Amino acid sequence: MAHDYDVIIIGGGMVGGCLGLALGQSSLRVAIVEAREFSAKQSDATGKRAIALSWGSRCILDQLGIWPQVKEAAMAIEHIHVSDKGHFGKTRLSAASQNVDALGYVVEAAQIEAVVAKSIETAAVDNLCPASLVDYVVHQDSADVTIMLNGKEKTLSCQLLVGADGGLSKVREKGNFELKEYSYDQQAITGLIQVESDDQTVAYERFTSEGPIAMLPHFDGLYSLVWTMPSDRAQQTMQLTEDEFLQRLQSRFGQWLGELKLSGKCQTFPLNLSHVPQNTADRVVLIGNAAHQLHPVAGQGFNLGLRDAALLADALMADDIKDMESILEAYAQQRKTDQMLITGFTDNVIKLFSTDNAVFSLVRNSGLLMLDKIPLLKSQFARQTMGLGSRLARLKAV
Ligand SMILES: Cc1cc2nc3c(=O)[nH]c(=O)nc-3n(C[C@H](O)[C@H](O)[C@H](O)COP(=O)(O)OP(=O)(O)OC[C@H]3O[C@@H](n4cnc5c(N)ncnc54)[C@H](O)[C@@H]3O)c2cc1C
Repeated sequence: MAHDYDVIIIGGGMVGGCLGLALGQSSLRVAIVEAREFSAKQSDATGKRAIALSWGSRCILDQLGIWPQVKEAAMAIEHIHVSDKGHFGKTRLSAASQNVDALGYVVEAAQIEAVVAKSIETAAVDNLCPASLVDYVVHQDSADVTIMLNGKEKTLSCQLLVGADGGLSKVREKGNFELKEYSYDQQAITGLIQVESDDQTVAYERFTSEGPIAMLPHFDGLYSLVWTMPSDRAQQTMQLTEDEFLQRLQSRFGQWLGELKLSGKCQTFPLNLSHVPQNTADRVVLIGNAAHQLHPVAGQGFNLGLRDAALLADALMADDIKDMESILEAYAQQRKTDQMLITGFTDNVIKLFSTDNAVFSLVRNSGLLMLDKIPLLKSQFARQTMGLGSRLARLKAV
């Protein structure tokens, strides 16, 4: 039976968009259904949220032609400094010891979104935008996908439906995928900080009894703050005067970057961890935030989603698409370890590092010390941080 498309991707955000770009290089017939105008995403390229890209993500974005368009504005992270307030353990990872130019990069999320949106417009994929998913029905060898396009419902058939529609995924909801959710009753305060130090090559991860503080080099001498704490404490912290806020931040973060000042307003985000244990079903697969939504402390959400997109593209281009069951089985098997490791790692980091319990404190400090003293362990931690812990996609056709 002839299908309208081989693959329909719901959601043309950073993850779904990258999958579309990768598949656009193959002979597969692909459609992207995106609710927001791509042109609006392009004009929004000045957002302030910074995103930490691992070295592995840089390699994937390079293969997709995205990296050359964002690299000028990307800040290289040459060192990562991890410490624990009031305790002796600290470690420093460096790009030079891993024989790479950078452990990762900081790029504005809106800039990546804008470049992905622009590239999709010229890629060999059909852009059904603005359009949104209404419902879908799965048959033995196809899926019928109903979307709302130009105010009218339209049903299209495909061999594979990909849900890349973010944390509130409708593909996930309509397909009754089981979602496991954990609420940490924590919030992240995010904002831009002016620092005294002029060294912008180091990313800081500072653990305190209330929760972790991440400081990522931003642009123009600024650092991007992600400060995690219990929800009630976050609300109370947001009520402080600017001086009181900075005093509290400085006392928790220390003097690693000299005197800290606020640049603009801060925002809060509630922190939850959710993931779909089984993210493939007959003719349907979930990727990116639709499949797993992580605490931003480890800066891994997009990195993990990008690896989903790259490996799915790899699997679809390597095999005969008619054998969809085997393709999805192999994809799920390959992604399982990486997804479990990163979700488990992020969850453990939060539990281990957001407490003043003496035993946990000893464990995390001896962990940090061991990391610092044993080169192999440090190297493995660095590889995980760089997004090289799992098999990288080849994106053969690209
Ligand atoms: C404060 C904060 C800091 C972060 N820092 C980092 C970091 O440093 N490094 C990192 O790797 N990650 C980080 N992340 C996570 C990262 O931002 C996300 O993992 C990533 O944006 C997810 O991309 P996505 O494409 O899966 O989902 P989304 O970006 O949510 O995209 C989903 C797309 O689907 C579309 N859509 C939704 N529903 C429908 C529908 N029914 N029909 C059609 N289209 C639809 C939407 O319009 C959107 O374009 C951070 C997150 C936060 C909150």
